[in-house]
Amino acid sequence: MSEKEAFKMKTTSPLVALGTLIGRELRHENVEKPTVSYGQAALAKKGEDYFLIKPDCYRISGDPTTSFSVFAIFDGHNGISAAIFAKENLLNNILSAIPQGCDREEWLQALPRALVAGFVKTDIEFQQKGETSGTTVTFVVIDEWTITVASVGDSRCILDTQTGVVSLLTVDHRLEENVEERERVTASGGEVGRLNIFGGNAVGPLRCWPGGLCLSRSIGDTDVGEFIVPIPHVKQVKLSNSGGRLIIASDGIWDALSSDMAAQCCRGLPADLAAKLVVKEALRSRGLKDDTTCVVVDIVPYGHPVIPQIPKKKQNLLTSLIPGKRFHNSLNKEPNKLSAVGAVEELFEEGSAVLSERLGKNMPLNSNSGTFRCAVCQGNEAPNDDLSETIFSHSSGPMLCSKCRKKKDAMEGKRAIVPTLMT
Ligand SMILES: [Zn+2]
Repeated sequence: MSEKEAFKMKTTSPLVALGTLIGRELRHENVEKPTVSYGQAALAKKGEDYFLIKPDCYRISGDPTTSFSVFAIFDGHNGISAAIFAKENLLNNILSAIPQGCDREEWLQALPRALVAGFVKTDIEFQQKGETSGTTVTFVVIDEWTITVASVGDSRCILDTQTGVVSLLTVDHRLEENVEERERVTASGGEVGRLNIFGGNAVGPLRCWPGGLCLSRSIGDTDVGEFIVPIPHVKQVKLSNSGGRLIIASDGIWDALSSDMAAQCCRGLPADLAAKLVVKEALRSRGLKDDTTCVVVDIVPYGHPVIPQIPKKKQNLLTSLIPGKRFHNSLNKEPNKLSAVGAVEELFEEGSAVLSERLGKNMPLNSNSGTFRCAVCQGNEAPNDDLSETIFSHSSGPMLCSKCRKKKDAMEGKRAIVPTLMT
C-alpha cells in the first residue's frame, strides 16, 4: 500500500433506514441482529501488508438475509505475491469447501473445516506458480454474533468486550515463542536455530532451516520447506448481545503494543478513529520499524455504535478475579479469560497441524464408480490406478486427490509416494 493510501479509512453507517426496520418487523425477522461497523488504518515501511474488507457477503447468493462479513490481514515477506494471491483467492477457496444447501447453523459448523481446506488449497495453488514469497493470514468471518477466526503466522486478532476483558483469538506461530511448533518442525525434518554471524555468535530470533523463516506456519514460502504449513489455528466464539470489538493487526502493532494496550488506547471511540489511534500509538512507542496495519471491527447492538470506555480500576479488578483456564488445544499459552465472565460463548477451537485431524471423512460422490470430492481442493477424482492408495489414505483420514495427498504427506515430513509392499 502506498503512503497516500495510509490512514485511508472507511466506515459503515450505523444507521438503518426506517423502512428497512419496519420491513424487518413485518417479516418477523430477527431485529436483534448486530450492527457491524469498521475502520482501517495503515502505514507502510516495506509495502508488504495487505488487507481485505468485505462487509456484504451472502451465504445464499442474492439473499441479503444470509449476509456475513469478512475481514483479513495478510503480512507478506520476501515479496508481495503470496499476500496478493491469498487476498484474491482465499475467500473463494474457503466458500467452495462449504457444502451447498446448508442452513445457517450447518454453515457455521462447516466453516472451521472449510477454512482449513481453503488455506491448504490456496497454498497448493500458489506453490504451482513457482514464486517464493510467503504471507501470514488472519481471516475473520462475522455472522451475526458468531465470530470465526483462522490464522497462520503472527498477525493477531484480539477481542475486547463490554466487561473489559481482552482476549486473543489467534495463536502466534513464531518459532521463538511456540515450543510445540518447534517440536513439530523438527519432527518433520526441519532444523530450528538462530542465525550464526561471524565469530560463531548466534543472533536474532529462532528460525527454521533451510529457509531461515521465524514463522512456523504461513501461506507460500515454497522455498523454505514443507514443514512450514498453511494449516490455520481456528477459533469460533459467540458474543453475548452486549457485543464486542475486534482488533486485527500485523506484527507492526503487536511488537509495540500488548493486547490490553491496543484495546485500552481506543476504547470509547468509533471504529474508524480507533484503528487510526492504534497505529498512532504503536508508532509513538516504537517508530515505524515495520509495515503496520490495523483493522477494527465493532459488533454492537443496534443503537449502540460504540464500545464504551471502562474505568481502569474496574478493568484491573475483573482481570485479576478471572481464573486461568487452559484451552483444550495446548498450543495456546494464554489463559482463557473469555467464558469466565459470560460475555462470550466458545463454540470451537483447534490448532493441530495434522490435516487428518482437521478434515472429517468425506463420502464418495458415487459409491458405484467410486468417484469422490477431494476434501481440500473440492476437485472430483475418478477411480484410477491410484484407487487402492486412495482407499488406503481414506482409512486414516479424509479422501484426497493425488495432488492434495502429496501435499499432506510432504507437510508431515513423509515421502510423497506411499511405500510399496511391506515385507
Ligand atoms: Zn485435492
